[in-house]
Amino acid sequence: MSEVFNFSAGPAVLPAPVLEQAQQELRDWQGSGMSVMEMSHRGSHFMSIAGQAEADLRTLLSVPDDYRVLFLQGGATSQFAMVPMNLLRGRQSADYINTGAWSKKAIAEAGRYCTVNVAATAEASGFTDIPARDTWQTDAGAAYLHYTPNETIGGVEFDWIPDTGDVPLVADMSSTILSRPLDVSRFGLIYAGAQKNIGPAGLTVVIVRDGLLGDMLDGAPTMYNYRLHADAGSMLNTPPTFGWYLAGLVFRWLLGLGGLASIEVINRRKAGRLYEAIDASDFYHSPVAPGCRSLMNVPFTLADSSLDGDFLTVAEAAGLLNLKGHRSVGGMRASIYNAMPEAGVAALVDFMREFERTRG
Ligand SMILES: *Cc1c(COP(=O)(O)O)cnc(C)c1O
Repeated sequence: MSEVFNFSAGPAVLPAPVLEQAQQELRDWQGSGMSVMEMSHRGSHFMSIAGQAEADLRTLLSVPDDYRVLFLQGGATSQFAMVPMNLLRGRQSADYINTGAWSKKAIAEAGRYCTVNVAATAEASGFTDIPARDTWQTDAGAAYLHYTPNETIGGVEFDWIPDTGDVPLVADMSSTILSRPLDVSRFGLIYAGAQKNIGPAGLTVVIVRDGLLGDMLDGAPTMYNYRLHADAGSMLNTPPTFGWYLAGLVFRWLLGLGGLASIEVINRRKAGRLYEAIDASDFYHSPVAPGCRSLMNVPFTLADSSLDGDFLTVAEAAGLLNLKGHRSVGGMRASIYNAMPEAGVAALVDFMREFERTRG
């Protein structure tokens, strides 16, 4: 197998040791004679896999006891509806911060269930920065405030947690969860599609303060009810068992590295190296304001965009895959999630220098 580095934004690279363990256990999970894919979700084997994965995630994030951890389906996109359906609790409106493409989708979906107050928007900068907290027009009566700590497409990331007083804070952490330590107690609810930093597509993790649950919008589907999922241990119906198992292997891998403080050091080193290479050159450019550049998704452009296609072709031939930027931003995007080895970033930086030397 030739070595490649996969910079895809999602589904994204997984840790090699995790894939190797899954391969080893694929036909026969720990002497059970069965693949995890073939097991009853209510049998003792899978119950132990599920319980261990939740316990390990709780350890990684120091999740307080009064928070429930849910392993659901439907992707982050389903959460755009589940959040208002469950958290409006009789209120009429919610606050949203608009920092880019994923914020906008969350806002559009919430608008089907309540009045959305866009308390701040980064539109004026073309979504390349984050509006300062003291400019936000928040509503003390809002059911919750929703924001997107890392905009996967724009590459804009908060390095601070907004203070919202008594208004529960809700975060779409799809592309930043587990990239660094997090004070979960600051949040009412956190959600993340798994396919960026947790595991394979098909699994969605929700961490929610128990006291917020129980007042569901009338007429909402059973499957969209957090309370019912929480009471059933995320086994209201058949959960995404293989994804849950694989996520558990990723949690173990992170614990083995020393937890989130350790991965943060590595992530800062990787991102620092890449931004440094971009900033050191007039050939490459980062569109994002320096104070809010993402550790996970690094968009960059070439000064001469007519070289974009050439850059991608030559990069791919060198084993550097999926560097094409999102169509809404153009240029390139290197997604460097937890599982991207430091050697991958080093190879990309070397490649960029060499490309500039020969084409610049
Ligand atoms: C990928 C992504 C989504 C969409 O996730 P799905 O699981 O495909 O629904 C939503 N929000 C953010 C921040 C993302 O990165």
